[in-house]
Formats: sequence, structure tokens, C-alpha cells
Amino acid sequence: MRRKPLNTLSRSKLSRYARSLANLAILLADSGSRLERRFWKKRLFATLAPMLEGRSETTLTQTLEYLYTHHYQAYDELAFAVENSVESPPVGNGEDILLLAVPIMAWSTYDIPCGKIDDADVQALTDDLQKNVLGEHAHLVLTNMLFSPDQLPETYTAAAELARQLGNAAANRLAVSIDSDTLPATQNFLSDVRYLIGAIAVPQDLPAFKWQEETPGGPLALSKEEVLEKWRLMGNATLQKIMAGCSIQPMLPNGLYSACREAEKEARVYSVRASAAFLETALQVAPDQIQASVGAFIDRGEIEEYRIGFTLKGQSEVVHGVVWPLIGEEYGNEPDPIYERDIVSEPDHPVIRSSIETLLKEVGIKQVKVLEERFPLEYCEDCGTPLYPNPEGELHHAELPEDSELPSMHLH
Ligand SMILES: [Zn+2]
Repeated sequence: MRRKPLNTLSRSKLSRYARSLANLAILLADSGSRLERRFWKKRLFATLAPMLEGRSETTLTQTLEYLYTHHYQAYDELAFAVENSVESPPVGNGEDILLLAVPIMAWSTYDIPCGKIDDADVQALTDDLQKNVLGEHAHLVLTNMLFSPDQLPETYTAAAELARQLGNAAANRLAVSIDSDTLPATQNFLSDVRYLIGAIAVPQDLPAFKWQEETPGGPLALSKEEVLEKWRLMGNATLQKIMAGCSIQPMLPNGLYSACREAEKEARVYSVRASAAFLETALQVAPDQIQASVGAFIDRGEIEEYRIGFTLKGQSEVVHGVVWPLIGEEYGNEPDPIYERDIVSEPDHPVIRSSIETLLKEVGIKQVKVLEERFPLEYCEDCGTPLYPNPEGELHHAELPEDSELPSMHLH
């Protein structure tokens, strides 16, 4: 996933393999014609294929970290090539393979389910997707698991292994069963994303998705919006059954990495909406009685995320909070100048900041305070939950008042 790498490396610290991979990505990024691009691209993909079958995770992450600080365009080329190689392993017997994720936004005052799905429901969801979302010639195999974000493969090589397993199953028209006991436990949030994971096998050059299909001699048959609408309508009954007690909003399937990025973005908006709905129910207050305080949180001199603390009008206790992480290209490449100079000023993501403000107002929370100070990334020492700002700019643990309708999400 294209995220901000953790370390900055110098070229001398790179392994021999990482150095030659970095060179290849730089040559691709700097190529001046389509002809040259195609040449380097082929070489890059050919180099990556065996790496993803072996234990080359360190080389991959080292190279990405190095390029992130030294040649951003080459970083982007390499990240894209790695993700594509992971998602489409060469196991298709003449068909193309795509490792697929179907995100589902959900919120609930109970635990949002994850884990095993009954075979009949897997079949129903496979049929719904096959019929309403995928291209006519694409063959889908879904796993029998509902994944939480922390159960998705953490490394490129782990994801590549899953892609090979599912790709093989799709190519040979077999079912896949995953042992859910081996997956890590998941943390519970008020709102979160769940994923159906699968793979499609599709004959080369034929549409993988409905929105790629053309009517003979005419325009595209269905737009993405129309396909999404149909999927939400047709998949709803089964999804609602496996996610009982949740409000859900299914999204369109896509390649694993792209689907996850879209879901992360969508989840931020979704969780703000869910929070407003939750507070109205839990505290029996109208949105105009709720105040939101938005703060920028920094790590190593860069804004890492925004956090929104919700308080009741005229009070300073934080009753609920939402984290708004920065994703992919939203990270600044430069260190935060405000932090460097150690003075207080406006946060430097005006677009993000104003979209948070607009969204809060849209859900009825008219009192929005954008705090000028920068906050350290602090968490509760007992439960690891993030601390949220109140209007005075103090960081608090979010706790619902004792007389609220629902139990607090954190009982300590
Ligand atoms: Zn705590």
C-alpha cells in the first residue's frame, strides 16, 4: 500500500538487490519516450516477479523507503509496479488474475462482525457480484471470511502468496476456504471497514468489471455509479445478514490496494457521519448541541493525521472522537515548516481542513473549532485509544457521560 515509509535511508545502506531495483525504477521514471518506458517497465516487472515469490520483503521496503525521500516519481513507479505484480500473479493458464477486495463501510454500537462466513452466503455474494458487478467472462472466487483491516496481509510477499492461492483457485474454478483461527484478533471501533476478499480470472483483454463493458458499436453499457447502485441493492440482503446489527454501505470491488485506499478515504467521511448519528442516539442531543474541535497531530515534524474531538456545548469533556488519517499523496514531502520553526500558525492542509469543516457542518454540527496548535500523537496508556482535543486545545480520553443511553466504548 502506498503509505509514508518509516525510515529514511542513504544509498550506501541499501543492499545490492535494493540498489539495482532502485536504479530500474529511476530509469523508468526518467525515461523520455513510450518506447523506453515500455522497455524499463518490462524489466522492472520481470525483476519483481521472483522477488514476490521469495523472501524479498526487506529489499522491497528498503528500496521504497529510499526512493520516497530521494526520487518520489521513481517511488511512485515502483509502488505501482509492486502492487500490480502482487495482485496479478502469473498463474492463470492464459487468463489474467486480479486479487480483489470488496470494502463494506459499517457502524454499530455493538461489535462489527468479522471472521467466517457460511458457505451459502459466500455463494450468494459470489453470484451477486458475478452477475451485477463483474464482466461477463470474469470468474470470481471469494474466500469464506469477512476481513477487518488488521487481518489483511501485512506484507507484499504475504499478499502475493494469497493472490497466488486465490488466483489458482479462480483459474481452476475451485472454492477457497481460509482458516480464520490463524488471523489476528481485531480492535473494535464504532465505525470501521470490512472486506470480502477474492480473485477473478478473466481471459486477456476482456472486461474484468461491468463498467468496462461496451454495447456493440455504442457507448459504455453501465457507469460505475449505476453498477454500484445495483450492487448495493442486490448484495444488501446477504451483507446485512452477515453483518447483523450494523448500518452498512457497500463499495465497489477493485484490486486489493486500490480498493483499500478508496475505503480508507471513504471511511473518514463515513465515520464522521456515523459519529454524528451515534451521538444523537447515545446522548439524545441535537447536532447543534455538539461542538467539534479539529486538531493537527504531528510525528517527526510532519502532520500524520487530524483528530476530531466532540464535546457538548459549553463543556470540556470529550464524549467521542474520530481520527482522520492522511492518506498516500496527502502527506507533505517536506517537513512541516510550522513545527521546524516552533511557532503557531494555520495547519498547512487547507483543503483537507476545510473538507472536514464542511462535512461536520453538513451533518449538522455547526460549532466547529479548528485549533491552531500542533499536537503530539498521544494515546491512552491503558487501552491505546487515541486522545482527542477539546475546544480549549487540551487532549482528552473520549468518554460518554455516565447517564447516556449506551455504554461507553472504553470501560476504564
Ligand atoms: Zn483508555
